[in-house]
Amino acid sequence: MNTPIDLRSDTVTRPTVAMRAAMAAAEVGDDQYGEDPSTNRLQARVAEMLGKEAALWLPSGTMANQVALRTLTRPGDEVVTSVESHAAWHEAGGAAANAGVQIHEIGQRGVFTADELRAATKPRNFAIFPTTTLVEVENTHNRAGGVVVPQDEVLRICVVARELGLATFLDGARLWNASAASGVALDTLSAPFDLVAVAFSKGLGAPGGSLLAGSKALIATAHRHRLRMGGAMRQNGIFSAAALHALDHHLARLPEDHANAYAFAQRLGSGAPVQLDLATVQTNIVVFHLPATMPLDAPALSARARERGVLVNAFGPRTVRAVTHLDVSRAQSERAADVLVALLAN
Ligand SMILES: *Cc1c(COP(=O)(O)O)cnc(C)c1O
Repeated sequence: MNTPIDLRSDTVTRPTVAMRAAMAAAEVGDDQYGEDPSTNRLQARVAEMLGKEAALWLPSGTMANQVALRTLTRPGDEVVTSVESHAAWHEAGGAAANAGVQIHEIGQRGVFTADELRAATKPRNFAIFPTTTLVEVENTHNRAGGVVVPQDEVLRICVVARELGLATFLDGARLWNASAASGVALDTLSAPFDLVAVAFSKGLGAPGGSLLAGSKALIATAHRHRLRMGGAMRQNGIFSAAALHALDHHLARLPEDHANAYAFAQRLGSGAPVQLDLATVQTNIVVFHLPATMPLDAPALSARARERGVLVNAFGPRTVRAVTHLDVSRAQSERAADVLVALLAN
């Protein structure tokens, strides 16, 4: 059988031949001694791109999020996030297990307002309440279908956070996509936040790695938490070289993924009676729902599509996610939509 069209995630991308060559040629040293030149270069470059004083490499986005929570909260605190945030849904309870915090999810469709944050923040000095100490924004929002959080609302959220004494964290695993889709520069998107996480293993196509950026003082604290969590590595330059290569060669092409996702969504939405709001298809993620009247549910559709060489994720009983990336072309995106339409018509 031909190689399947894999739309399960943008994490399925494999390093290109050129990326592997860059990795093979990477200058390396012991990163725990701060002597890995490629990692030092990457950290400086990402800090600069995000407009922060310093940045720190971490093996995964999940660890970046865990380290951010450890850095900005204390056990027993409460963290406010959007509904269905990655922190609440996709980290195996890590916020509770590693940072000892509870998560309060607010808003709708990946977005919440400054007023909703104010209403959710528990009054201080009240014996029975957990102390709300952190607000976390996810941009783009994964489970909401890759939507971009409007920057004017982000600014209002961070003003209210400062007024209420909350720290601010941006889970920007796909901040690159948010910037490409909105035309707002990465450092502008990052500016209002104390800490910002970005990922290289998603649309940028590297085999791993996330960076956390912020002030020198916060990054020094994050550095200690990284070590405690077992995330400090040695000749990490092999990974960093892949990330540097991705910044040079894959960042500028993200709009292609966005156009492919939109083409896929249009074709699927016009061909089959799925619930799919094209207004949510702003970047490289398409989340759609199968009405209860349809015979196929999400796991069944995903299984049938697999038999026909198309891989999508059942995200819920009747919710499906498809993600475009470096390793799928426009033609493949359209073919994948046609396969789903045919399955849903029968
Ligand atoms: C993928 C993702 C992460 C975690 O990244 P991993 O490298 O898979 O651990 C964090 N936040 C968001 C929004 C993500 O989509």
